[in-house]
Amino acid sequence: MELKSRITLDEDKIINILEYIQQKPLNSYVYPELFDEKFNISINECMRVFILLEKKNTLKQVYKVYCPICKDFSESIFEDINELEEQTTCENCGKELFEKENPYKYVVIYFKVLRNE
Ligand SMILES: [Zn+2]
Repeated sequence: MELKSRITLDEDKIINILEYIQQKPLNSYVYPELFDEKFNISINECMRVFILLEKKNTLKQVYKVYCPICKDFSESIFEDINELEEQTTCENCGKELFEKENPYKYVVIYFKVLRNE
């Protein structure tokens, strides 16, 4: 497969990622940390595969915010990083989640499944 030749990753790991994504319904979400836990694939390795899959329009990068007080991710999902400026507080507890010095401190990257075949 074309993907394999372009990334130096264990073939098994790529297959694990691809198989997992193929089982996911369209418009559901995957995130690199999950693969770390599930398949022992590091977040960096996973991101490299995800970014290639994004170029192939299989995945799309989206964003959530993480609240350190609630220890939870926002319900809202932002398709565009600029939309994050509209959500600067936690939906649950109201904590300010935007720091001028570090605007992406609480931003978490997810990937939306656009194609699963
Ligand atoms: Zn909160």
